[in-house]
Amino acid sequence: MHQFEHHLGQIPDVLAMLVTLAQPTIGVSRGGSRFDRLQITGGNEHRDLGDTIDETLTRDAQYLWGLLTGYAATVWEQAPESREDAPDLAGGALTTAGAAKDAALLTVGWLIHHTPAAYTLQLVEDERELFSTVRRLKAVHGIHPHPRPTLCDTCGRRRVEWDYTDVKGGGVLRVGLCRSCGETFIERQDEGENR
Ligand SMILES: [Zn+2]
Repeated sequence: MHQFEHHLGQIPDVLAMLVTLAQPTIGVSRGGSRFDRLQITGGNEHRDLGDTIDETLTRDAQYLWGLLTGYAATVWEQAPESREDAPDLAGGALTTAGAAKDAALLTVGWLIHHTPAAYTLQLVEDERELFSTVRRLKAVHGIHPHPRPTLCDTCGRRRVEWDYTDVKGGGVLRVGLCRSCGETFIERQDEGENR
């Protein structure tokens, strides 16, 4: 599987997990008040720490969602052939984990369906920012979606799970780990090779 589909395919799970982890703050911003929150937490000794974590997660969820919808909007604008079946996204995509996952699935499914159109646009910088953000948020928050495994060249079982990882100093590696025999496979991705 190529970087394009791989990273897009992980966004629904990553976004849903960010919203799940950030839920207290998002719940408050949806209509509750800070005062309610204080009652819920039963005091304010730990409030500062909690607020910091929640707000970081909320900001990360909003940033990822913004990148995804911004990228989708660019494809929609620049590739008229993609418009006919474009998803109609209502507001409030980040109010619950389920809503976030559904909205991301709709958007990602539409983008993958229009992969050829998206490729012709050569949005290399947008894709690099979106995909590196997916990798960074997974690493920072310990989120590990499980991709569909492939066959292992060593033991022959379909247990190899692939992921992409950043190399210190630049560059991206595609790394496979066999969950059966433990063999690892490493492929270097060339700069700008998003497909
Ligand atoms: Zn194996």
